[in-house]
Amino acid sequence: MFNIILFGPPGSGKGTQSEKLIAKYGFKHLSTGDLLRSEISSQTPLGLEAKNFMDKGQLVPDEVVIGMISTALEQNPGVSGFLFDGFPRTQAQSEALDKLLKLKQTAIGVVLALDVSEEELVKRLLNRGITSGRSDDNNEEVIRARIVEYHKKTSAVADHYKQFDKVVHIPGEGSVEEIFEALCAEIDSRQ
Ligand code: ADP
Repeated sequence: MFNIILFGPPGSGKGTQSEKLIAKYGFKHLSTGDLLRSEISSQTPLGLEAKNFMDKGQLVPDEVVIGMISTALEQNPGVSGFLFDGFPRTQAQSEALDKLLKLKQTAIGVVLALDVSEEELVKRLLNRGITSGRSDDNNEEVIRARIVEYHKKTSAVADHYKQFDKVVHIPGEGSVEEIFEALCAEIDSRQ
């Protein structure tokens, strides 16, 4: 099993690149953002709780997303690998993920970190907001709050995996295809 974390700030292109990576390598895609939005559209209690945080650009509590990922891992036995997108987002989530994978006798193979400047992120998210219908993308204040959360809590995830020498930085500005090729080259050199 080869498991990947696609890491980077909101708007860095994780969703776009995930789709292409899944199509090429057959990983099971686990996006906590997608899982949360699906809970919201089904109006589950979890979704209703999560929505309050997401609308403000804040992270959803660790136990909520860790529970969701734990269930998703159980529901997908026998896959060739997981592609984590938008998870882990805190030190506690990183530690929980390592434990869950260890129970399955596997681990994170590589953390691919997309680097994009803050101005480019805001521009992309505002643009996405025009078409995506995501309420957290059409308000600049909420976008800035998400980037603040990223610096405050999520950048620790890269530090966590750096100690195991698992982080590779990839420039996230350029064409979708160029970035995809850089990601594939890293994956191919490790599997
Ligand atoms: P983006 O990367 O553009 O912020 P996501 O779909 O990954 O988009 O996340 C949208 C929102 O969902 C986040 O702002 C946060 O409120 C919530 N969320 C997603 N994943 C997590 C997570 N792992 N931990 C806490 N909150 C999360």
